[in-house]
Amino acid sequence: MSLMQLTKKPDAVMVSGKGSWLWDEKGKSYLDFVQGWAVNSLGHCPAVVQQALAEQGSVLINASPGYHNMPSQRFAREIAAAAGMDQAFLCSTGAEANEGAIKLARKWGSLHKNGAHEIITLQNSFHGRTLATMAASGKPNFAERFLPVTPGFVHVPPGDLAAIERAITERTVAVMLEPIQGEAGVVTHPKGYLRALRELTESNRLLLIADEIQTGMGRTGRLFACEHESVRPDMMTVAKGIGAGVPLAALLAREAVSCFVSGDQGGTYTAHPLMCAVGSAVLHTINQPAFLEHVQAMSARMRAGLEALAADHSTGAVHGAGLLLALSLPQPSAAEVVDAAFERGLLLNAARPDRLRFMPALNVTSNEIERMLTVLDSALGCVSSK
Ligand SMILES: *Cc1c(COP(=O)(O)O)cnc(C)c1O
Repeated sequence: MSLMQLTKKPDAVMVSGKGSWLWDEKGKSYLDFVQGWAVNSLGHCPAVVQQALAEQGSVLINASPGYHNMPSQRFAREIAAAAGMDQAFLCSTGAEANEGAIKLARKWGSLHKNGAHEIITLQNSFHGRTLATMAASGKPNFAERFLPVTPGFVHVPPGDLAAIERAITERTVAVMLEPIQGEAGVVTHPKGYLRALRELTESNRLLLIADEIQTGMGRTGRLFACEHESVRPDMMTVAKGIGAGVPLAALLAREAVSCFVSGDQGGTYTAHPLMCAVGSAVLHTINQPAFLEHVQAMSARMRAGLEALAADHSTGAVHGAGLLLALSLPQPSAAEVVDAAFERGLLLNAARPDRLRFMPALNVTSNEIERMLTVLDSALGCVSSK
């Protein structure tokens, strides 16, 4: 094996996919409720993505970041407008978008806030795996793996507005958070928290940066999770679902914050025409009232089914919103349940030792949800009877 070993993986080698299904090299099928970590928002190999790749791929794959190209101009305009933002920096990964947000906040602080540069983030948050985004993340003992830790981040407990207020100093430039903490195990904030945080940041002249990389693009039943509390941040980062499986990400910012000048930011795959053509196709598909209503309807169905299973197996509560849901388990048996489900042809994620996470395609059907619940029932039964 020549690939660097980074995480433990099952032996199966995946060879093809269609919608909610994935097949390995032996022909075994898997019902996929991981979907590349909430990335394949339209399932495996969706026709709109195939078509966008084929059409753009036959015209122009890469012009060079040194020249304008039409798909990126169009996608920047569309995604910024959809998010209520003004400008976009288009890149490939979520970490790169967040790294850009950190740079833009520091730049804004140097120009408009006396050199303020510290960013307040939340404990247990996840913002990526570059050195700065690891330091921004609040996962315990995460950034410390690669000393020295990049300075400039202050971590406070999630859901506690007073803790943020206490952490603000003249060095503070921004507050950055996930509207729902995905990697932490689908942890939601108290109702009204985001709205109150918007008011707090505004009255202290701080930037609010929403990391919508996991929660955006329809995942929670609205196009962006900030919409649930009618919050308009100063910057928003999107990735994962916007590419529906191809590497595409964006840092979106309000006009007043967009202060990068020539040479500040860039990258070889910035504003890549092939990826941006996919981005527009995905955005057009997801940003439709009927599509988002489907997400809400499937969410209600899955939540009800998980609650019924929770009652039968005496597990804990169901967490999350839209099609980003999690089920608490009474014991740290999530990894065992994931293995038992895998054997039965169902892909799930153990977000925490005691929490299962569900991230199906947003166009998942009610039959697929019923099927998932049946297999999960069996996997839970098998693990608890051991
Ligand atoms: C996945 C994720 C990231 C990192 O995105 P990559 O594309 O893996 O770099 C950042 N923030 C959140 C909330 C995420 O879920």
